[in-house]
Amino acid sequence: MDIARRDLLLSAAALTVGASGIARAAPDRPLGYAIVGLGTYGLGVIIPQFANCTHSRLAAVVSGDPAKAQRVAAEHGLPARSVYSYANFDSIRDNPDVDIVYVCLPNSMHAEYTIRAAKAGKHVMCEKPMAVSVAECEAMIAACKRANRKLMIGYRCHFEPFNLEAMRLARSGAAGKIRYVRTEHGFTQGSPSAWRLKRALAGGGSLMDMGVYSLQAARYMTGEEPIAVTARESTDRRDPRFTEVEDMIEWTLEFPSGAIAGCQSMYSANQNHILLMGDKGRIELEPATRYDGNHMWTGRDGREREVTPPAGPAKTQFAGQLDHLAQCVRSGAEPIVSGEEGLRDMRIVEAIYRSAREGRTIRLDGRA
Ligand code: NAD
Repeated sequence: MDIARRDLLLSAAALTVGASGIARAAPDRPLGYAIVGLGTYGLGVIIPQFANCTHSRLAAVVSGDPAKAQRVAAEHGLPARSVYSYANFDSIRDNPDVDIVYVCLPNSMHAEYTIRAAKAGKHVMCEKPMAVSVAECEAMIAACKRANRKLMIGYRCHFEPFNLEAMRLARSGAAGKIRYVRTEHGFTQGSPSAWRLKRALAGGGSLMDMGVYSLQAARYMTGEEPIAVTARESTDRRDPRFTEVEDMIEWTLEFPSGAIAGCQSMYSANQNHILLMGDKGRIELEPATRYDGNHMWTGRDGREREVTPPAGPAKTQFAGQLDHLAQCVRSGAEPIVSGEEGLRDMRIVEAIYRSAREGRTIRLDGRA
């Protein structure tokens, strides 16, 4: 998406159109989120972020652990009726405090809870990867459309100041014409019993988790859709962590402009990097997509310059993401990272796996 269109959508989402057709500021009441899955991300990262939000608040929790759910609810002043289990989740339809359901569960559960939330009449924020197959992504989009509810994917980097500034610099020609992108994301997986290493829950290995950052970065930094992908997987199957899913996978994307992206993800080393090479210079981020502490510099004519991005309108990338969907619900605007955006990634993810399996380039533009 080009930056001008993004800015337009972001500002449109901040407004609602009254009966007179005149845009006016959104009503004050922050929209209520129900967090589904009180794990590392839902509980540890997202719930504390409501303190940084303007248009969003915590309204309910959904968990398989009643004691934990009640403790979290009590800590945040939620009434008992706003604590749900997975079994009674569908009764959330009767809770007027909940406008949006945020799915923070293992990947293979994203489709089920998104569809159940839409059927309960709630808007949905779904964590990345959107689901574990193209078919699931399509079913999620259809369910939200049928229910006339918004669907947004938790692609927080679209609200992260370093990534936004890198996109702006790349589009403004600061590095000339972008010819090559290099991006790697990974971390060292510990226990072989982690759900991320179980195919039934994760849908795949490092590609489904950290690889999504590399794939997203290649797309949002170039602003182009890839036309072909060639991939290669490298996994030590004797390692007890990798009996079901891949460790390392690398893939090359070809873009219509002739730009190439060399992308990689792995579960056996920590890495977090984006490099954009243009014909006049470079833009580089390392770390690139962390929760905080990202770092960016540009290089041109043999000189490097550290770049400090302007502060965004939101206090943090997470607050920006949460408030964006709330504003879209208020205004009727489409989220900048909609279900269709998650679906586009999943089509490429499936092509990456297919290319690695079949040992050949897969066209993404419908050409033979
Ligand atoms: P986690 O293991 O810490 O939490 C998962 C939660 O799901 C737990 O509360 C767990 O009890 C619950 N759960 C329900 N059924 C389960 C089952 N059958 N097996 C395992 N857990 C089950 O995982 P997480 O790191 O919080 O990740 C959750 C989702 O959030 C994933 O889709 C992940 O990709 C995404 N995530 C996104 C970011 C980001 O920066 N956008 C960061 C971390 C995780």
